[in-house]
Amino acid sequence: MTENRIFNFNAGPSALPLTVLKEIQASFLNFKGSGMSITEISHRSGLFDEVINDTVARTRRLFNIDEKYHVLFIQGGASLQFAMIPMNFLGKDAAADYVNTGTWSTKAIKEAKLLEKKVNVAASSEDKNFCYIPQNIEFNKDAKYVHITSNNTIKGTQWHKFPDTNGVPIVSDMSSDIFSRPLEMDKFGMIYAGAQKNMGPAGVCMVILRDDMLKLSEELLQSENKTLPNMLRYNTYSSQNSMYNTPNCFGIYTIQLVIKWIEEDMGGLAKMESHNQEKGKMLYDFIDNSNFYRATADRDSRSLMNVTFRLPSEELEKEFISQATKSGLGGLKGHRSVGGCRASIYNATTMEGIAALINFMKSFATGK
Ligand SMILES: *Cc1c(COP(=O)(O)O)cnc(C)c1O
Repeated sequence: MTENRIFNFNAGPSALPLTVLKEIQASFLNFKGSGMSITEISHRSGLFDEVINDTVARTRRLFNIDEKYHVLFIQGGASLQFAMIPMNFLGKDAAADYVNTGTWSTKAIKEAKLLEKKVNVAASSEDKNFCYIPQNIEFNKDAKYVHITSNNTIKGTQWHKFPDTNGVPIVSDMSSDIFSRPLEMDKFGMIYAGAQKNMGPAGVCMVILRDDMLKLSEELLQSENKTLPNMLRYNTYSSQNSMYNTPNCFGIYTIQLVIKWIEEDMGGLAKMESHNQEKGKMLYDFIDNSNFYRATADRDSRSLMNVTFRLPSEELEKEFISQATKSGLGGLKGHRSVGGCRASIYNATTMEGIAALINFMKSFATGK
């Protein structure tokens, strides 16, 4: 621990790399010689243009994609995307496939249905309380898209291999694992992520949208002779570099620094992935070898970002969380809807943090 900071295992908002926080702090009062902070400069200034353009360029470099993919910054969180996706891509008769792997997928499905869109739940893991990722799914080949949640923040599961959809574009909610690993981007028509898990502060959602999806959305509006409110239409963002209105400048700036850290300090997404695998293995191995702690997700579906586990009783879980907090390990309480414990170990969590957590878990179990 440095500078009175705790080991932060919060699920979101969550830990950011210390070097990024220090850089924000150091440049806060006088951003790049402007005599103003990033929260005070104009979003129409050259200084901010540099921030947003560099964030887009770094995102494209990290995912190995070109201008065919639009990188957008939208407010309203991942939750607004649950509505914008069906609004922009589904016409009167068109349908989409959704895979239900937990709380956030369920919300995405509900939102599409609320808009009276045709939603087909192609697979679900609800039968076993969402402890696994469904395999061998039959998708509808006429679906406009297949919606999945790549990492299930609350249930602690993650897609380790993305499904074969017969060419139907995948739209993935990657709120809690974006930038944690390289992606085969050809499979994805769109990915989106609220920033506050793995890349920045709350208040901005990154959307990476492929050109054909943007076209699909514009053709749909034309063919149905409809319009959408400007703020709910992807074209508004792609045609104006996400600056139709004032974007979350501070949020975008933080994302820029986080992905610069991934590129320059961590060495890119493949290295980031190995680091995350190493951290996850260390923690899961410890849990598996213990007869006190029990992991809740099926082995082949376990998340490398959110490690969910139980203790022998709810009383012990309460005591565990409270003693951990006193020992400088924060955020270990499971989501209120599922109980238990959860260690969120996003990109910014260090090996040192994992070691400290395991040490604490060892001594807590020994004392019981
Ligand atoms: C946190 C989370 C959301 C909700 O994000 P908001 O930005 O708060 O709307 C959606 N999906 C997943 C996977 C999440 O982890």
